[in-house]
Amino acid sequence: REEVAIRLVQDVVVVVTEMGRAFVYVILGGGVAAGYAALEFVKRGVSQGELCIISEEPVAPYERPALSKGFLLPEGIELVLGTRVKSADVKRKTLLTATGETISYKILIVATGARSLKLEEFGVNGSDAENVCYLRDVADANRLVNVMQSCAGGNAVVIGGGYIGMECAASLVINKTNVTMVFPEAHCMARLFTPKIASYYEDYYKLKGVNFIKGTVLSSFDFDSNGKVTAVNLRDGTKLSTDMVVVGIGIRPNTGLFEGQLTLEKGGIKVNGMLQSSNSSVYAIGDVAAFPVKLFGDTRRLEHVDSARKSARHAVAAILEPEKTGEFDYLPFFYSRVFTLSWQFYGDNVGDVVYYGDMSGSTFGAYWVSKGHLVGSFLEGGTKEEYEAIAKATRLKPEIEDLDELERQGLGFAVKV
Ligand code: FAD
Ligand code: NDP
Repeated sequence: REEVAIRLVQDVVVVVTEMGRAFVYVILGGGVAAGYAALEFVKRGVSQGELCIISEEPVAPYERPALSKGFLLPEGIELVLGTRVKSADVKRKTLLTATGETISYKILIVATGARSLKLEEFGVNGSDAENVCYLRDVADANRLVNVMQSCAGGNAVVIGGGYIGMECAASLVINKTNVTMVFPEAHCMARLFTPKIASYYEDYYKLKGVNFIKGTVLSSFDFDSNGKVTAVNLRDGTKLSTDMVVVGIGIRPNTGLFEGQLTLEKGGIKVNGMLQSSNSSVYAIGDVAAFPVKLFGDTRRLEHVDSARKSARHAVAAILEPEKTGEFDYLPFFYSRVFTLSWQFYGDNVGDVVYYGDMSGSTFGAYWVSKGHLVGSFLEGGTKEEYEAIAKATRLKPEIEDLDELERQGLGFAVKV
């Protein structure tokens, strides 16, 4: 491409090609990872006009977990908002936006996150109905709040027993809505919880009035003449009358732009310990990245905010100061807060499980032991110091010779490590 103009923006030369703008660094995506990468660039010093964020969302990156609208406001950064990138060419180092602009980069950070899985992908129609809600971004959150307020005192069906299902069910109950949760597994949070841990949370939810229908899935909706859902039909034949539906049935990473161009693994963009993809000018961070977890010697894609924040910071360090930056060494960390409950989990949930504490009270936990080492720790109702202790113990992977002794020591084991 020919350079047709050179524009001066506050002493920094921005090269304008005949096709569009050019930046040294482009962050593709405007979510949590993008926000933290931008903050890290600013902290380490990036010149005005050197960095651009392109996001489909109309707002600057914000903290998704709280959907608190606490924007991660960057300074001196070109924000290209409300703009979808529709294709990428990693050989030419260009991105083409839906508005027809080409944006080129020297280094690209892919932070495209993930999209909610839709019911249509499971053969059920009705996602567009005005009282069917998903929750991924601030627009979804505003819509969900409006629908919930219009249904106060009524019935809600929550489809999915994962994070969205559990957290939204709690919020709906707090907002005086009658909730039925429907999911295919035998217990909630099946990817992380054991049946015993799940029963603690399900019992608590039942006391709050939540009804569980497990081991079945939605087969269709009934609609009124305005296209509003009036009932949920389950595959086991149950019909649930409802005023609203919340769907949280998992996500798919947004890798589409790079399929056939970058190596993919575990549904995400495969990166090395510097968060660098199979093309050395392209990095990937957050939900879309599949990175090596040194602690466990394998590659994982984690869908959580802590890994989004830390992978973002690490990628920027690796880009700006490669000689001073080692390999990303991440301890997987998941958490949730619902009602007055609060839990944290570190590590891996494989191997033998050892429970401790009082499961009829407010503090209990579990350790996972694999190949003679502690690999995972869960704690409900801990203090800040106790959570720090289980995190530290899990990272150290101490040898465990006697599971009974570990059970006897309980939380004390982690505190002493
Ligand atoms: P995202 O934050 O999803 O950002 C992706 C961005 O890329 C979006 O701005 C999107 O519009 C943009 N984008 C995608 N494709 C394109 C394109 N082609 N062109 C332009 N822009 C594009 N995790 C926890 O650990 N704890 C929690 O309590 C927690 N709570 C959560 C609550 C909710 C409601 C949700 C939805 C998630 C929660 N998570 C939580 C998960 C956490 O928010 C995600 O892991 C995190 O947001 C991932 O960050 P990301 O930047 O990779 O992706
Ligand atoms: P999850 O993967 O946590 O849970 C999805 C749930 O839906 C699983 O129970 C899954 O079962 C079930 N499911 C799948 N298909 C169907 C179906 N057809 N009908 C009914 N149930 C079905 O995803 P979420 O949607 O809950 O969360 C989306 C993302 O947001 C995740 O990345 C999550 O990490 C993140 N998030 C994290 C939070 C946190 O960390 N505190 C809070 C909120 C969101 P199966 O396992 O059998 O597929």
